[in-house]
Amino acid sequence: MRGMYIHIPFCHQICHYCDFNKVFFKNQPVDEYIESMGKELTLMQEDGISFEGIETVFLGGGTPTSLSEKQLDRLLSIIQEHVDVKSLKEFSTEANPDELTLGKLRVLKDGGVNRLSIGVQSFDAEMLTKIGRTHSPGDAERVVTDARKVGFENISIDLIYGLPGQSRMQWEDTLIKATELDLPHYSGYSLIVEPKTVFYNLMNKGKLPLPGEDMEAEMFHMLIDHMEKNGRQQYEISNFSLPGLQSIHNKIYWENDTYAGVGAGAHGFLMGNRYSNIGPIAKYMEKVNSGLRPIQNTHIVTTIESMEEELFLGLRMSEGVSSSHFLKKFGKELDEVYGSTLDSLIQSGLIERVGERIKLTKIGVFRGNEVFQQFLN
Ligand code: SF4
Repeated sequence: MRGMYIHIPFCHQICHYCDFNKVFFKNQPVDEYIESMGKELTLMQEDGISFEGIETVFLGGGTPTSLSEKQLDRLLSIIQEHVDVKSLKEFSTEANPDELTLGKLRVLKDGGVNRLSIGVQSFDAEMLTKIGRTHSPGDAERVVTDARKVGFENISIDLIYGLPGQSRMQWEDTLIKATELDLPHYSGYSLIVEPKTVFYNLMNKGKLPLPGEDMEAEMFHMLIDHMEKNGRQQYEISNFSLPGLQSIHNKIYWENDTYAGVGAGAHGFLMGNRYSNIGPIAKYMEKVNSGLRPIQNTHIVTTIESMEEELFLGLRMSEGVSSSHFLKKFGKELDEVYGSTLDSLIQSGLIERVGERIKLTKIGVFRGNEVFQQFLN
């Protein structure tokens, strides 16, 4: 196993676009939930799953920084009881700007966390309110200063484009403010309106003025150009970094490699098996407290499914998919399995061969979903 994902399903606010497994923090059994995750880690080890030599731990959510200093401290000590945190290559947490106080930053640093992924989304105050965020652009700038003060260097921020009513100029302004912070890593995602969100309901009522497809593509162009002009290389469709500062944890997913998922609703991929945990917090805790692993679904990935995943995950990265790695992993030549699909995508100008690698072309990056679909059975 190369990585571990730990899910903290609590939020102090619910953003209008969010469909993650999360609940309002208030009145939730947060302390008990943290203890339950410790029990789940013990149950996994009793099941023969070893955490030795893992490279990354990622705290995601929900919002890990919704926890109090004391709760964060307890969570980090539980993790340390099971994982040799000092030998991790990367220990990341997601964070919201208005929750990440100096005190919490110190607790995270002392607990071994060495990377922050901060949900900034926009530097436009009005837009932040419109999408249901509670922080201000000033909070985002303050938190970066504080994080640096505490000793965090490896900091990333998330941005969203294609937001309701967002203009080209507003997006440009957000990009400029983001790179003025001179961070090693940026993620930029286009808004996807998911079912069961506030935005979905508004869209169905015709009250969500989304930019059209052309404008969204233009905003994606602006993101790529701006990041490249500022020395942040696009190493994955939505991710940009200084050389050597790519997200190691996220690369585990795109490299179709193994990771444990811990916590309510978390997903994992271990021993050829993709699994997901029970989502509702009370049911998750009940299961763990009765001494059983809280698994909801498991799926043994067949060889053909694994080959498909290798392609549609790997092609997300600018380094693409290695033919020799494919042969080593599956005992078959890439062309033997996907030769005609690859040829047709090359002819359409969506992918290219570079040495022994297959990569998306510049046009292919904009039409990724079209490419990935070709590898699905
Ligand atoms: S986007 Fe993050 S902070 Fe907002 S509701 Fe979803 S999980 Fe919570």
